Amino acid sequence: MNRTSWIKTAALLALSFGLLACGGADRAKKHFATIGTGGVTGVYYPTGGAIAKLVNRGEATYGVRLSVESTGGSVYNLNAVSSGQLQFGMAQADLHYQAWQGLGDWAGAPLVHLRSVMALHPEVITLVTAVDAGIETVADLRGKRINLGNPGSGNRANAEDVIRASSLDPESDLRAESLPAAEAPRLVQDGRLDGFFYTVGHPNGAVSEATSGRRPVHFVTIEPPASFFDTRPYYTRTTIPNVLYPQAANDAPTPSIGVATTLVTSDTVEELVVYAVVHAVLADFETFVQTHPALQNLTPADLLVGLTAPLHPGAERAYREYGLIP
Ligand code: GLU
Repeated sequence: MNRTSWIKTAALLALSFGLLACGGADRAKKHFATIGTGGVTGVYYPTGGAIAKLVNRGEATYGVRLSVESTGGSVYNLNAVSSGQLQFGMAQADLHYQAWQGLGDWAGAPLVHLRSVMALHPEVITLVTAVDAGIETVADLRGKRINLGNPGSGNRANAEDVIRASSLDPESDLRAESLPAAEAPRLVQDGRLDGFFYTVGHPNGAVSEATSGRRPVHFVTIEPPASFFDTRPYYTRTTIPNVLYPQAANDAPTPSIGVATTLVTSDTVEELVVYAVVHAVLADFETFVQTHPALQNLTPADLLVGLTAPLHPGAERAYREYGLIP
């Protein structure tokens, strides 16, 4: 038996044990679930699509049919999963942390039903501005017309953090817009915006669109002092690789802030359904990471890094079968 067929056989065996352990009666009925993602030009949407494809390919075995919904982003997804409107949602690790701890938007009202499924690709707080707008630093945003993101998006909270770290007030010191990230690139090209914030994996459709128009754009460095990170353990320093966007007017990687993407669910979602999602991804991890260039550096062990809420028991079972947790 060659290595690939051995892995496939082992995965199938693990799957039958796992499904048995998840309860026979539950398996007899078909389960429908939806993943909340983000705008169609981001990375959440295609990543959600890749997960759904793997789960649905195994529909006969798992008894689970997964669909994907384009949504407003992290904040929307966390709230919708918590209220039971969605069974799964993608959310930035910073907002996942705040929602679980009862901080930020969730001050005093933590989402106690939230459970972790997996961590995914890294995202970067990305500030794209038109070169002719003369924005070289975050402090230069004063008086400029900048899209911070729609309510419900993750980038909105990040943009506000970064702007405040430069001693500007996001509400009064700039002309802030609240549009979906998918609309911003066109508005920059039309001269109706000076730039936009988007917290997103790279490469992605929105930034590619923004950098390939006639009006030259560049990435702006975001480098807050060390103290900024002391109170925000979910942020790390990283860079935006300019090589991914050959038409951006940057000749080196741009320093910025990174955060992990996570997939969350609720403790009210059946064990079998969550097991199916994690198992389907681990069983064909190569296919999964090859579906989008932003996923290509992920390893199975990375799926467990950057999560705050406790693992859902269905996820735990799948990780244990793959030896990823004891
Ligand atoms: N991080 C963004 C948000 O939470 C979404 C990015 C994406 O769709 O890839 O709103």
